[in-house]
Order: sequence, then structure tokens, then C-alpha cells
Amino acid sequence: MPEPMKIAALLERLGRLLATDAFANGLQPVHWEALRYLERANRFSKTSAALTAYLGITKGTVSQTLKALESRGLVRRRQDRKDKRRFHLGVTAKGRRLLAADPLAKTREVISALSAGEQRALGDSLETLLRLRLAEDGRQRFGMCRDCVYFAARHADGSPHFCRLLREPLTGDDASAICVEQQPKPGAADDDEYASPACSRHEIDPAYAEFSDG
Ligand code: SF4
Repeated sequence: MPEPMKIAALLERLGRLLATDAFANGLQPVHWEALRYLERANRFSKTSAALTAYLGITKGTVSQTLKALESRGLVRRRQDRKDKRRFHLGVTAKGRRLLAADPLAKTREVISALSAGEQRALGDSLETLLRLRLAEDGRQRFGMCRDCVYFAARHADGSPHFCRLLREPLTGDDASAICVEQQPKPGAADDDEYASPACSRHEIDPAYAEFSDG
């Protein structure tokens, strides 16, 4: 079997193992993925539209998923104060307690047994593979905020950081969250050719252009 096909088959088999593990605590794999996403996403990305884009599944499936999570008290929905048509999603304390028993832990233990170098090499390869595969499908990557071209560190308004795209202050926690609007910095892990077109509807405010990138 050619090497790329062998690797693809290995990933498929691993994926099946992970999916089997994820039928745990009365949840399905997609429920766990949604919970993890909502725990990792920043406040601009905790919406059902962003969750739909992240999971790459239909709106109907996302709606069913959220209904199941809400009925179990794991996720709650809050109406936006300015735009009554928008809702923000969040993981409840009960949801966080459940995430402490995430079935991914089984695989994490196996990975922990690898050397630090092996873990780094594996992580880098998988990240590259995921990035290329998402680009192939024209899907958004949801990268980390601090690696975004719009991330300005130590903004003068007193907040630790600032988003030059959305013109909002960012906390230290925000910096390590994932974002639906993220555009990777040129020369960082992601090259421009893989950048998502998600931000094309926004224009950066020149007033914030002078603040340094973190
Ligand atoms: S800096 Fe980028 S990743 Fe962070 S909130 Fe703004 S658009 Fe999203």
C-alpha cells in the first residue's frame, strides 16, 4: 500500500477508536465535540453558526445537538444584549464537570507515554494535515487568537490585549481561545494561501493599525 494511503487508513482506524470511546456518559461523539468547542471558543465564536462551521455538519444536526446538551443542563443559551436575534452559547458548571471525564483522556494517556520530541513531531504533522485538509474543503480553521493578524498585544485602553478587527478588548484567556474570525499571521504556522475568507466582510479600522502584534 502506498505510504499516503497507509497513513490515511491509520487515521481512519484511530478515528473509529476515538468515536467508539465517545459514546460515554449518555452522550454521542458530536455532543462531546460541541462541548469541547464551546469550552475552547472565544466569546465571538460561541454561536450555533460558528459551531456549525467548526463541525462541518448541517444546521439541523447542530440544532439537535444543542437541544440534547441543553436538555441535560450541559449548555445554556443567552440572548445578545444588543441584537435580540443573536444567542450566545456557554458550557454550564455541570458541563465543565462532565468535560473533566472527557473520553479523549484515554488517548491522551497513550500520547503522554511518547517522548516530548515525538509528541511535538506528531502534533506538528497532524496540525499541518488538518490545515491542508480543511483548505482542500474550503473550510475555516478556527485558529488561536494570539496567532491572528488582528491580535494587538498590550492595547493602550487598559485591557491586556485588543482585537483590531472586531474592535473589542481581549483578556489573557481570550488570547489562547479559538476564534471563528481568526486569520493566521503570515509566516506563522499558517501561510496566507490557507487563510480563511471568513474576515472578508470586515474592514480593519485604521485607527488601531498602529498597535503592536503580540
Ligand atoms: S484577534 Fe483575531 S482571533 Fe482574536 S478575536 Fe480578533 S479576529 Fe478573533
